[in-house]
Amino acid sequence: MIDQALQLLKSHNYKVTKQRKALLEYLSQHSDSFLSVTSVDAYMRTLFPGMSHDTIYRNIREFEEIGILEKKNRQGGASVKYQCDFDNFHHHHFICQKCGRVYEVKLDLSQIINDQLSGFEITDHRFELYGICAQCKQQSASK
Ligand SMILES: [Zn+2]
Ligand SMILES: [Zn+2]
Ligand SMILES: [Zn+2]
Repeated sequence: MIDQALQLLKSHNYKVTKQRKALLEYLSQHSDSFLSVTSVDAYMRTLFPGMSHDTIYRNIREFEEIGILEKKNRQGGASVKYQCDFDNFHHHHFICQKCGRVYEVKLDLSQIINDQLSGFEITDHRFELYGICAQCKQQSASK
């Protein structure tokens, strides 16, 4: 389950410490939604009481830099999520506002950019869909 992440760590010359491994396992077990960085920090401190906040935050940042984690800044702080797609770091999300589950969306924006923004240089973009996922819709319909 965390093989791809371990491979990435190794290819970036990071040591696979037991702390990093525990962090990866925790994040991969919760890979279907964003977790607040503070809650990840709290979890790690219960596992490794001697681990400093700095180290935990640094590990999270390193994971994010090499693509193991996806990050999101929201009101009330940053949250992170285990990479949904190691073959396709750049992808988009549908986020259920009820259960918080994140679904990967494959979308090619180049057509839209070509058609509507011809001659522009795009330096960054964000695209996210929000709503109620099919599972939550079904649950609320059957009640
Ligand atoms: Zn994703
Ligand atoms: Zn995109
Ligand atoms: Zn849902």
